Amino acid sequence: MTDYTHDIDIYLKRLFPITRSITGEGNRATLRILQEIIPLNIIEYPAGQHVYDWTIPKEWNIKEAWIKNSRGDKIIDFEVSNLHVISYSAPVHRKMTLEELRPHLHYHEVLPHAIPYRTSYYHENWGFCLTYKQYETLSSNEEYEVFIDSELSEGSLSVGELLIQGKSTKEYLISCYICHPSMANDSLSGVITTAFIAKELLKNQGNLEHSYRIVFVPETIGAISYCANNEKAMKAIDNGLVITTCGGLGQYGYKQSWNKNDFINQMIEDVFNENKINFITYPFDIHGSDERQYSSQGFKINCATITKDRYYEYDYYHTSLDNLDFVTAANLNWTLHLYLQLIDKMDKNLVYQNLYPHCEVMLSKHDLYPKTGGALLPNTNISSLDIILWSLFYMDGNTTLYEISKQLRTDICVVYDQIKPLLDKQIIKICDE
Ligand code: ZN
Repeated sequence: MTDYTHDIDIYLKRLFPITRSITGEGNRATLRILQEIIPLNIIEYPAGQHVYDWTIPKEWNIKEAWIKNSRGDKIIDFEVSNLHVISYSAPVHRKMTLEELRPHLHYHEVLPHAIPYRTSYYHENWGFCLTYKQYETLSSNEEYEVFIDSELSEGSLSVGELLIQGKSTKEYLISCYICHPSMANDSLSGVITTAFIAKELLKNQGNLEHSYRIVFVPETIGAISYCANNEKAMKAIDNGLVITTCGGLGQYGYKQSWNKNDFINQMIEDVFNENKINFITYPFDIHGSDERQYSSQGFKINCATITKDRYYEYDYYHTSLDNLDFVTAANLNWTLHLYLQLIDKMDKNLVYQNLYPHCEVMLSKHDLYPKTGGALLPNTNISSLDIILWSLFYMDGNTTLYEISKQLRTDICVVYDQIKPLLDKQIIKICDE
C-alpha cells in the first residue's frame, strides 16, 4: 500500500490552523482543501432547518478577538490561537474589571500551559480561554478592554459527501467530523485519515464489492442534519466506521459497535492481531461521537472506531496541547493502513449461495480440481481444494464469507480469492440483500 506519510504531513500542517466550528467559512475552507485529495461534494443545509428534534443554528464567523490591558497591549489574542475564543462567542466590545471578566474566562489548572477548548453553540454567550499561566498574570487593579468581532447570521451548515459506487448498491458508511479548530488528534486525525481512505477506495473502485457513503460533518448537529436529509439511504446501511482520535502517541484501541457480536468488532480485533498490536477494547457507550446518532433506534447502524489515544482518555484532550507534536504523520499513516486492511476485509464480506445444493459438484468437470492436489496455500494451513469444498458446504445464501473464513481459520481475503473460479463458472452466486 502507498506510504502517505509525506502527504499526510502536508495536510496536517495546512488544515491545523483553520478556525472550524459547527458552521462557518473555516469548515468550507477545510472541505475545499480536502477536494484536492478527493472529489468531495459540498452540501449546505440552511440555518433554521428543523432536523428531527434539533434546529440548525445560525452560521458563526469570527474575524478578530482580543483582550487588552490598560496600556493597550494585547494579552490574549485570537491571532495567536483560535482556541482563545469560545466557539460561537457572540460579539462584544467593552471595558471591564477583572471581577466582571472572570466569569468569561476558562483555563486548565492541571495543565497550566494549555489553552482549553470550549464551545457555546446553543446558549448565546461569549468568553475567552487562556492558559493558567496567563490567567495568573491578570490583576484586580487593571481595567481590561475586551473585543470579539464575530457574527451570527443566517447562512448554512456545510457537509462534505462522497459516494463511491461498487458492484453492489449495499453501502458502508464512513464518517468523520470537521468541527474542531486547532486540535490534531480530535478531530483532524479523523478528517485526514478519512480523506486518504477515500482516495484509496477510489483508486480501487472497479474492484469494490460494496458501495461507500463517506461524510465529513460537524459533530452531532451535522450528523443529525445529514441523517434527516438522507433518511432512506441511511436506514439501509448496516455497518459503518466513525473515524476520530486515531493519531496520538498512546495505545491503539477500538470502540465496539452497539451490537458487540456484530462482525465488524471481531474483524477489527483480527486486524490488530494480524499486525501484532496490543489494543484496548472500549465497549459501546451512548457517549462518544457520531455513532450516537447512527446507532439510534431509527438507524441502528453498527459503527465502530479504531482509536490511538481515544477522546476523553488522553491528558491533552480538548486543549491546545493536542497539537502537531502529539499527532504525527507517521502514526496517521499507520492507522490509515489498519483501516484499509479492515475495509478490504469488510468489502469482501459477501453472502453467497451454492447453485448446486444437491450432492457434491463434480469439480473436475468444471476444471476446478486443483492440479497441485492438497498443497497448502502460502501462509495458511489449508489447501485450495479444501477452501472450495468447505465453501460449497457452507454457502447457503445466509452465511457470510467472514463466518465461513472463521470456520476455516483462514483470512477472508484468501477465501475470497480462492472461490472466485466458483463464481466465474456460475457454481455459486452473490446474494444481494
Ligand atoms: Zn472533541
